[in-house]
Amino acid sequence: MKIGVLALQGAVSEHVDMLTACGVTARPVKEQPDLTGLDGLVIPGGESTTMRKLLVREQLLSPIKTLVQQGFPIFGTCAGLVLLAQPESLDGLNGTVVRNGFGRQRESFETALTVKGWSKPYHGIFIRAPYLSEVKQPAEALVTLADGQIVAAQQKNVLVTSFHPELTSDPRFHQYFIDQMVAKRSDQVN
Ligand code: GLN
Repeated sequence: MKIGVLALQGAVSEHVDMLTACGVTARPVKEQPDLTGLDGLVIPGGESTTMRKLLVREQLLSPIKTLVQQGFPIFGTCAGLVLLAQPESLDGLNGTVVRNGFGRQRESFETALTVKGWSKPYHGIFIRAPYLSEVKQPAEALVTLADGQIVAAQQKNVLVTSFHPELTSDPRFHQYFIDQMVAKRSDQVN
């Protein structure tokens, strides 16, 4: 299985290392031809307005948007969530995103998260993180904080987290993406 990591900006190598530790081949995606032959794509954190500009400049925005619509598995973290949730960017998740939603007081923080369907908590690392104030069908919330902010969600082939699973040593989100989304999609295609 080959999974690409969008490598225009942001935490690329951490995702590559985590995916490799999960037993798949991970490779950076910098231009259109790099998308060929992939089974899934990760869009890392960074700065979403800069990443959007770079996506347009590298002519990657519309090919990735098309992949999203075709059911191709995509996992976006932090700025990746922003791009996937914005209708004008990748439009892959039916919800409302609040950028830098935790404000200055709580720019960066770490907290234990309860993930829908998982028995053990997950350690969430938030860095100038966005959140979703609501998600609508077919999107589903996977993690909702006590104050109601949705910080992980899935819409069919699209998985998003506000926090940074690649900065922990806990591979469960990447493994979930690989096993439940990428592998299942490959079964369908083959
Ligand atoms: N605040 C950034 C944005 O909205 C995201 C921060 C991050 O990816 N760590 O683009």
